[in-house]
Amino acid sequence: MGGKQPDGPGALRVSRAARPEGTRVQVGPVEFGGRGFVVMAGPCAVEGATQVEHSAAAVASAGAHVLRGGVFKPRTSPYAFQGMGEPGLRLLADAGRRHGLPIISEVMETAQIPLMEQHADILQVGARNMQNFSLLRALGKVRKPVLLKRGLAATLQEWLLAAEYLLDGGNEQVLLCERGIRTFEPAMRNTLDLAAVAWAKQHTHLPVIVDPSHATGEPSLILPMSLAAAAAGADGLLIEVHAKPEQAMCDGHQALTPSAFENLMRRLPAVLDAVDRHLLRPETPAQIAGAR
Ligand code: PEP
Ligand code: MN
Repeated sequence: MGGKQPDGPGALRVSRAARPEGTRVQVGPVEFGGRGFVVMAGPCAVEGATQVEHSAAAVASAGAHVLRGGVFKPRTSPYAFQGMGEPGLRLLADAGRRHGLPIISEVMETAQIPLMEQHADILQVGARNMQNFSLLRALGKVRKPVLLKRGLAATLQEWLLAAEYLLDGGNEQVLLCERGIRTFEPAMRNTLDLAAVAWAKQHTHLPVIVDPSHATGEPSLILPMSLAAAAAGADGLLIEVHAKPEQAMCDGHQALTPSAFENLMRRLPAVLDAVDRHLLRPETPAQIAGAR
């Protein structure tokens, strides 16, 4: 595979023309890309057994479909908490199993793939790694879905071409994730590009997820931007939730409390209804166990 130069964007494997009906990505009982809207939530980083259990319990009871948690953290400072690594991944997987939720976690380098492939249900490629082409090539060989975040300053074409590496490598289970881009505006952590969501839905067949946590860096903006993402045609959300944001070791300033997250889950259905979608129906833990 690879090597053959497509004639233009229309010839790419990711282009909508290649699969006009759209791609559905299945993770156990959770389907992305259908009428059901998927919510992934949990802490920025796994910090310990109690913290991950409290976060998992909170997001599961509010109706989230997938549990998030980073164990390999791409931190701006080398002195900041870098993540718990493998023991953290095991804690996250155990919490996911206890609460009937598949898990998503970030893979930062090729050497981490076997471990992530074994324990995580969705492998996240972070914004800083969107153009790590050796990582993308290796993930093309993986038989687990990959969530590809848009780079901090990546054009839409660059984002799609990064996804093309995954599809060209043989992995068609790809979710795109808009997480805000860097602009001249300093009031928010990033600038959420919602037009990119509608654009990506038109130009690719891949499901599109929005991460309003990293896009805004501001808890009070996460509800309105989540509703707007649903209205813009996103297929789901990736949201940071922490049982005690003030004690978080990473990104606590942008984490939703469990009650703010519950409120968000209550508000989504009305907007989804307006665009002929609905929250993905919750499955019972027994159904999930059967599908795993
Ligand atoms: C994250 O999801 O915690 C993360 C590091 O995100 P991003 O790569 O979008 O900065
Ligand atoms: Mn984070």
